[in-house]
Amino acid sequence: MSPIRPIPGYLVAGAKHLLQDFLPPYCLVCRQRCTQLTPLCVHCLDKVDLNLYPCPRCALPSGKMRSGCKCASQRTFLDSLSVPLLYTDVLRQLIYQWKFRGRVELTQTLVNLACQEKTPASIEGRTGPVDLVVPVGMHWRARLKRGFNQSHLLALALSSTLACPTKPPVKALLKAASRSTSQHALSRTDRLENALQQFSVKQNLKSHRILLVDDVMTTGATMENAAWALREAGARRVHGWCLARSIEPGGAGV
Ligand SMILES: [Zn+2]
Ligand SMILES: [Zn+2]
Repeated sequence: MSPIRPIPGYLVAGAKHLLQDFLPPYCLVCRQRCTQLTPLCVHCLDKVDLNLYPCPRCALPSGKMRSGCKCASQRTFLDSLSVPLLYTDVLRQLIYQWKFRGRVELTQTLVNLACQEKTPASIEGRTGPVDLVVPVGMHWRARLKRGFNQSHLLALALSSTLACPTKPPVKALLKAASRSTSQHALSRTDRLENALQQFSVKQNLKSHRILLVDDVMTTGATMENAAWALREAGARRVHGWCLARSIEPGGAGV
């Protein structure tokens, strides 16, 4: 047996928290010293891009294009879609720290960034009353590996902030299925059917109005599949909310 034992993770995390209380804060992105109590310095905060002119169907920042967005012919199971930030530079680095480095304390910072003055302050002001906030599901193996479902954290923070004045409860209703069949081996019709079965809902939603929450949207396929599963379970309305829209193919989400 090796004479050197690894230091348990909880001790390392505890030591880090203690140090953070005594050391001056540093910007999580550029590592410059911060004078404020946010994890970003003023320069980096300024570089978080708001999605000011999103297409109402796909949320790409193409809302000002005269020719209209290419997505116009695509079907959607969402009644509305809100994606307040763009997945660029500074936000991408912040989300990396949050999602892949376990900095779960950044959840509220991210929601606050999404609910800034320049973006609509109240989600329900746009969607009407919401009965439930439902995070996009994560397969249990992936959740075990990461230790948390980032969409669930977002849903909890959203529900308790000004974004949802009625404070609807958060329920993890979407169960993510494991894909046993390779998509390549299927016909196009079977492929679409297989994709739609990405999530299942065990509860009868009896005409509920739902706010569906995810972190980063790239193609919108995950949101559509989740919205389809909620509608199959009886949801009357499904409004989508994602933190950030990727504007490059192959971003962090789907
Ligand atoms: Zn900075
Ligand atoms: Zn569009």
